[in-house]
Amino acid sequence: MANYIVGLTGGIGSGKTTISRFFEQLGVTVVDADIIAREVVAKGKPALEKIAQHFGKEILLENGELNRALLREKIFHDAQEKAWLNQLMHPIIRQDILAALTQCSGDYCILSAPLLFENKLNEITNRNLVIDVSPASQIARTTKRDSVNQQQVEAIIASQISREQRLSLADDIIENESADLSQAKQQVVQLNAKYQNLAAK
Ligand code: ADP
Repeated sequence: MANYIVGLTGGIGSGKTTISRFFEQLGVTVVDADIIAREVVAKGKPALEKIAQHFGKEILLENGELNRALLREKIFHDAQEKAWLNQLMHPIIRQDILAALTQCSGDYCILSAPLLFENKLNEITNRNLVIDVSPASQIARTTKRDSVNQQQVEAIIASQISREQRLSLADDIIENESADLSQAKQQVVQLNAKYQNLAAK
């Protein structure tokens, strides 16, 4: 396990994946909580079986994989179902994240998680980096990237902690408003040096 873990977070469409790639290009290992969360409910995994028992077989696609869109729909307006799912998923995800971080060598590792603060994953990080953009850019970039409309992105933004709260919890901030990514890339180079220093202390 790397002795130093940097949490990387930001709202939907803020540029977490883009910035993570820049760190990876510098040789930093990035553990992606989203990928781990998806693997937890992969076909044949115990968590998926529990979900199918709870919601019924119609929650599965014909190929036996999870129907993510249907599950999202079922929990979006139902706090109780959402709580049930979170109680099932969170401990497993946290355990798998810790396992992935244990495998991570290097001076420091990055844990990229959209809900780093919401899910208290900052309990296991030494420092937190927030990727920040305006809601207008979040909406423009997410609707361009995914097949979602403005209202859906707004609903997701509303379900996450506020921009102000997130920024208040940040140790470092990358502002990703500019379409020219060279500034952000330069900031990553500087932060990488900083994190290497902090990890060596
Ligand atoms: P996240 O992982 O936080 O959801 P992404 O890194 O996937 O965000 O970025 C959202 C979308 O916006 C992607 O299609 C990405 O290519 C694009 N994007 C990221 N940064 C910028 C930027 N500075 N200018 C314009 N588009 C960007």
